[in-house]
Amino acid sequence: MTISEGSSIYRLMKSAKLYSFGDIRIEDILVPKLGEKEVLIQTKFSGICSGDVMPWYVEKKAPLVLGHEPAGLVVQVGSRVKEFRPDIQEGSRVFVHHHAPCLNCNFCNRRDYVHCQTWKDSKIIPGGISEYILVPEINLKNDTLLLPQQISYEDGAMIEPIACVVKSLKRANIQKGDNVVIIGLGIMGQIHVMLAKYYGASRVICIDKIPFRINKALEIGADAVIDYSKLDANKVLNEITKGRMAQVVIVCPNNLTAMESAFDLISPGGSVVFFSPADPKDYLKLPINELYFKDISIINSYSCGPNDTKEALELIVKGVIKPERLITHRFTIDDTAKAYSLVIEAKDSLKVMIYF
Ligand SMILES: [Zn+2]
Ligand SMILES: [Zn+2]
Repeated sequence: MTISEGSSIYRLMKSAKLYSFGDIRIEDILVPKLGEKEVLIQTKFSGICSGDVMPWYVEKKAPLVLGHEPAGLVVQVGSRVKEFRPDIQEGSRVFVHHHAPCLNCNFCNRRDYVHCQTWKDSKIIPGGISEYILVPEINLKNDTLLLPQQISYEDGAMIEPIACVVKSLKRANIQKGDNVVIIGLGIMGQIHVMLAKYYGASRVICIDKIPFRINKALEIGADAVIDYSKLDANKVLNEITKGRMAQVVIVCPNNLTAMESAFDLISPGGSVVFFSPADPKDYLKLPINELYFKDISIINSYSCGPNDTKEALELIVKGVIKPERLITHRFTIDDTAKAYSLVIEAKDSLKVMIYF
């Protein structure tokens, strides 16, 4: 739809806006106005992130236009973009990261991109689940990737979640011969399953209770899945690893029970990776004396940086990961609320995509 106002044309576009948890509305808003160092993309696919269904997390940001995992087509290019991204033109197919670092500060020098103030302040406008997205200069300069011809937009929309797992698996520092246990087989757990061996795991053992998710993990490369609603995970892991237990445990769910359970499965010298944040009100009670003498490392892995998004794209190009095997549902923007409920329900769905 277009409306005229004075001499310039203002266009309206649909966006999915969240007002409070469960209250998502599709609204017509103005297409953002292009600056000379920015581009406008027409969104093609935008994934729904499992992080966006944590009530305490989204409500502190509400109201907001949902979505931060987009891929799209460049439809307008600012006049000075060629000074720093001559490779991006009208018609380019791109993945855009919603945060981009400065690449100059002390955090960036250590590759701690997620703590860079520029990374934190940067964003795509108005958000991923929107018909058009304005890509600001910093995002365009430091974390926008051209999609090679063989990579679909849908694959492109999987780059950010895959990049978060790339970071997690690199931080886990998996050694040859390691048993890697993955707790929780939602979309992020499944991506860990697909990539754990590439990053060095010898055996991948998962823990979940949803039959659909258990079967999917076995289909995409897990060596074993323990259904914790029927079996004692500690006992079964002990049996299948002949007492070695796990050298790395990656905890995907954002709940204390899952986090605590990791310490029953870890072997001396091992690392526990927390992939999701707990509720700010939650505290873990840990046997720190025992953890010390067992040399257990606790590692957090939050989001990802431009090195990880590049690596994620390479993994897709090389066929190490096949994102389409993890996409279970596709909706138009009008059904965003339905798409969100599916992700919240956390049963027979993995990646849920919005297409345009
Ligand atoms: Zn995400
Ligand atoms: Zn920085």
